[in-house]
Amino acid sequence: MDYKKLVREEVLAQKAYSIELVDCRIKLDANENPYGLSDELRSLFLGKIAGIALNRYPEPGSRYLVSRLATYLGVDQRSVLVGNGSDEIIQMICMALGKPGACMVVPTPTFVMYRITGRNLGWRVIEVPLDEHFDLDQAATLEAIALNSPSLIFLSSPNNPTGNCFSSDKIEKVIAAAPGIVVVDEAYGAFSGRSLLPLMREYGNLVILRTLSKVGMAAMRIGFLIAPLSLAEEFHKVRLPYNLNTFSQAAAVFYLDHETVFSGQINDIIQEREKLIEALRNLKGIHPWPSHANFIFFSCDFESDHVYNYCIQNGILMKDFNGPGMMENCLRVTVGTQKENKEFINTIQSMIAKM
Ligand code: PMP
Repeated sequence: MDYKKLVREEVLAQKAYSIELVDCRIKLDANENPYGLSDELRSLFLGKIAGIALNRYPEPGSRYLVSRLATYLGVDQRSVLVGNGSDEIIQMICMALGKPGACMVVPTPTFVMYRITGRNLGWRVIEVPLDEHFDLDQAATLEAIALNSPSLIFLSSPNNPTGNCFSSDKIEKVIAAAPGIVVVDEAYGAFSGRSLLPLMREYGNLVILRTLSKVGMAAMRIGFLIAPLSLAEEFHKVRLPYNLNTFSQAAAVFYLDHETVFSGQINDIIQEREKLIEALRNLKGIHPWPSHANFIFFSCDFESDHVYNYCIQNGILMKDFNGPGMMENCLRVTVGTQKENKEFINTIQSMIAKM
């Protein structure tokens, strides 16, 4: 049977999002928190999940977790929706708003799942290049809005993979000009000290997306969204009833119960990030961009593929973004532990010395 005849054209046209499965000693490719739980916290967590009834469905709608998140964020619990990672929430947003012929505007480069999910669900995706500082190109974005009247705009701030926050005034101008919903994805917000959540009071079309993946819970797949009440109500209609499993719900509550521990780790990552940027800046032929996230985007005066492969040979995995234009010979490295960062810098140094 020719299965391709059955598959939607948008899906046929896509390439699957592939995540490299390279086994390395030091994993600096996926923007995870490198610290993990202390033995004491780990046994506390194991105690919490020990009693979970495997024969029972999770709490529908993750009600307890949602109430805890609402208190934590200072918002009405009806405006909060949780997802199996923020990836799933991106999918829910695209499903709920994806009328036939719907158009979304996204900057480029940015997190690719906006485009992939959008296209899979039949969206017309307009990509607007960022400016020479990787900030929003305000004129081009406003023009794309005027021309296409998008029902959805995704802005990742701090942006993945470039690491910078977009200028708040530019984001605000986009929100004010948008005829539809603007999702500000604050996946890396904890490392920037900034959030646009307070702006939700002013703009009825602003939605904030967050995740616990970058701050220490990547394995548990916990994302959440804060939306105006009547919009959240519509998003709930496309949410699968038990989308967050019982372990993930427990892990998210555990995170909130021990938030100070994770905040401490986040502060350490921020300090390490600054040291790592400085160390990269001092390497010949390496040019790091400023970062408000837990990773650093940098360009090289030589083949980035060579840097990438050399690091793998030495047990270190990062992400190669080599591409045309401003992405030429660019790589992204996640901030690791002090020891990992030192080894990473030493490895790059030894590579440069051999050139
Ligand atoms: N948004 C951004 C900007 C990201 O970089 C990522 C992860 N790469 C996600 C959302 C998805 O994160 P998760 O599904 O783990 O919550």
